[in-house]
Amino acid sequence: MSLSPAALRVLRVVAATLVPPPDGAADLGDQVAESIEGLPRPRDRAELDLLLRLLDSRVVNLLLSGIPKPFTAMAAPEREACLRGWATSRLPQRRKAFQALKRLTTVRHYTSAAGARAIGYPGPLGPPPDVPKPIKPLAVTADTTLTCEVVIIGSGAGGGVVAAELTAAGKDVIVLEKGGYNNETDFTHHEAQALRTMYDAGGLLATDDLGLVVLQGSTLGGGTVINYTTSFATPDAVRHEWATEHQLPHFETAEYTRSIETVAERLGVNTDQARPSGRDQILIRGLERLGWHHGLLPRDVRGCPQDDGCGYCGMGCRRGAKQSTLITYLQDAAARGARVVVNCDVQRVTIERGTATGVAARVGNYALTVRAKSVVVAAGSIHSPAVLLRSGVQLPALGRNLALHPATAVLAHMNEDVRPWTGTVQAHYSDQFADLDSGYGFKFETAPVHPSLQALAAPWESAASHRARMAQLPRTGLVGILLRDRFGGRVSVDRDGAAVVHYRLSSYDRAHLRRAIAAAAELLEAAGAQDIWLPLARSISYTPGAKRDRKDWLRRVDAAGWGSNQLLLVTFHQMASCRMGASATTSVVDAEHRVWGIRGLYVADASTFPSASGVNPMLTVMAIAHRAARIMASH
Ligand SMILES: Cc1cc2nc3c(=O)[nH]c(=O)nc-3n(C[C@H](O)[C@H](O)[C@H](O)COP(=O)(O)OP(=O)(O)OC[C@H]3O[C@@H](n4cnc5c(N)ncnc54)[C@H](O)[C@@H]3O)c2cc1C
Repeated sequence: MSLSPAALRVLRVVAATLVPPPDGAADLGDQVAESIEGLPRPRDRAELDLLLRLLDSRVVNLLLSGIPKPFTAMAAPEREACLRGWATSRLPQRRKAFQALKRLTTVRHYTSAAGARAIGYPGPLGPPPDVPKPIKPLAVTADTTLTCEVVIIGSGAGGGVVAAELTAAGKDVIVLEKGGYNNETDFTHHEAQALRTMYDAGGLLATDDLGLVVLQGSTLGGGTVINYTTSFATPDAVRHEWATEHQLPHFETAEYTRSIETVAERLGVNTDQARPSGRDQILIRGLERLGWHHGLLPRDVRGCPQDDGCGYCGMGCRRGAKQSTLITYLQDAAARGARVVVNCDVQRVTIERGTATGVAARVGNYALTVRAKSVVVAAGSIHSPAVLLRSGVQLPALGRNLALHPATAVLAHMNEDVRPWTGTVQAHYSDQFADLDSGYGFKFETAPVHPSLQALAAPWESAASHRARMAQLPRTGLVGILLRDRFGGRVSVDRDGAAVVHYRLSSYDRAHLRRAIAAAAELLEAAGAQDIWLPLARSISYTPGAKRDRKDWLRRVDAAGWGSNQLLLVTFHQMASCRMGASATTSVVDAEHRVWGIRGLYVADASTFPSASGVNPMLTVMAIAHRAARIMASH
C-alpha cells in the first residue's frame, strides 16, 4: 500500500523537520515513504497514513500541542516543538507515533552514504570479495510440489543443525528459508542494504507498541550470519533450572553436554580471538577500576583478523571467519543431498487427522507444496509460533512466555577515539550482576555501534541536538545491558496471518534494568567518561564530577518515565514462545520436541527454551537442535 497523497505531503515536511536540509536529502520524505511501503503489516501502514493526516489537522494540533495550525503550515521552531511534544507525551499512542517517524527517518538518513560520511563514519572497507556459492538452491519457477522425508522451516541456528544431522543420518531433507542466499560476495557492508536484505522486515520489526525493536536475521543461515559470534554454553544454573523447575531432566545429562561440545567443536568456539576493541577497552578499564568481574567471550570464529578496521559482523563476515550455519552446517547438509529453497515464505503446516503432512509456502508468485513424513519448525521465536498459529495448532501456551533479553545501553562521550563500529565485535563481558535474584539479573557486554544504532539511541529534542549526538559517534563508548527477563510476552497473528509481538517489561524486570543503568553509568565514570547519556526520548545526561551527579541524573531519568518509547529497548535474543515442558497445558513441545497432540510435527529452535537462557543463546539453540535431530533420526 502506498501512502495517500495527503499523508505523503505531511511526511515530506516531518522528514525535513527531523533531519533538515542540507543534511537531509531533498527527497528524504519520499525515501521514508518507500520504507513505510515495506512494513510487513498492512495495519501499520494504514496507521501511519492516518497519523500523518491527523498531524496536519489544525484542531488536533491545537488540542495536543497548543499550536492552531496544520503541521505543514507551521514555522520550523513550531514544527520542532510539536514533534517534541509527541516524543515526550504522557499518551503512549503519541510517543509510539513519534518513534515510528523518528526511527524511519533518522535511520534512513544516517544509513545513506552521505548521511554516514557527514558524521565521520567511513562506511565499508572496500568492495566485497568474489566468493562462489557452494549451495545450489532449488529454483522454483512454477507452482511446484515436492516430496521428502523431513521438511525444515528456517535455516538458522536451529534449522541448520537439524538439516546437517538428519542428512548425516541418511534422511531426505528439504530446507525452506524465507530469506535469500547472501554470502561473502553480497556482504557489501552498507548498513541500509544489510538491514534490507538480511534482517527480518528489513530491521523494522518491533513490538506492537514499538516499545522494543526486534532484531533477527532473515537470510540463508538466519541469525548465525549476522550475529556477533558470542558463543556461551548453556550455564549450569540454567540447565539445573530447566531440569528441575520445568521437569526436563535431560538438560543435566552427559548427553546434553555432549551436544554442546559437539556443536562448539564444529564451530571452532575459542577465546583466542577476542582482542578488545576500543569499546571493550573502556568496558574492561571501568570493570577493573571498580574491581568487578570480567571475562573473555568465547567466539565461533576461525581466522578472525580482529584488526582495528573490521567490526562489521552484524552485516555478514566477508572474511569467512564467522562459523555461521551458512558456511558450516548448511554446507554439510547440502553436500549430503539436502535440497534448499530460499525466498520461500512458509504459510502453514498442513495437518490431516492429527498428523503433519507437509507445508504450504510461497516462493515469489508461485505456490510451493511440500509433502513430508515429518515437519520441523525452526523459524525463530517470533515466526515459529506464528506458523503454528496459522496452521490451526491450538495449545494454551503457544506463543506465550516469549522471552526477549531486553537490551539497552548507557552511552558516553569519551575523551578518546573509540570508533565504536570497529574491532572485535564483542570480546569481554561482566557477570558481576548476573544473579541478583534466583538467577535473574543482567550481563554487561558491548555491541558495535554503526550509524543506525546511534540514530535510534540519540534522543531527538530538536534537529540540532540529534545531529550533535550523531556527530559524536566516533567518540562514543557504551556499556551494553543484557537483561535476563523473568516475565515474558506473547506472539499472536493478525487477521492477515502476520506475527504480532506483545511485550511489556514487568516491574520486576524493570527494577533490574534500573539497577543495571546505575551500575553501567558508574562503570563509565570509572572508565573516564566525559558525558553520560541514555537512549531516552528526552535528553538527560550528566558530566561526572560536576554538581549534578549520578543520583540526580537517575532521579531525572525516573521522572522522564519508564513506559514504552520512553527508553529505547532492543531485543537481539528471542526465546521460549513454543517452550518445552512436561505438559500440554503449560508448554508447546514435549521433551522430544514433538508438538503436543500432533504426530510428525517438531519445533527445534530458540522458541523451545523453557525460559530465557540468560546468556547469548546461539550455542544453546544449536545444542538443543543437535539433540532434537538425534531423536528424530531414531524415530
Ligand atoms: C544483531 C544480532 C546479533 C546477535 N549476536 C549473537 C551472539 O553474538 N551470540 C548469540 O548467541 N546470539 C546472538 N544473536 C542471537 C542468535 O543469532 C539467535 O538467538 C539465533 O540465531 C536463533 O536461532 P533460531 O534457529 O531460533 O532462529 P534464527 O537463527 O533467527 O533462524 C530462523 C530462520 O527462519 C526463517 N523464517 C522465519 N519465518 C519463516 C517462514 N515463514 N518460512 C521460512 N523461513 C522462515 C528466518 O528467515 C530465519 O532465517 C544475535 C542476534 C542478532 C539479531
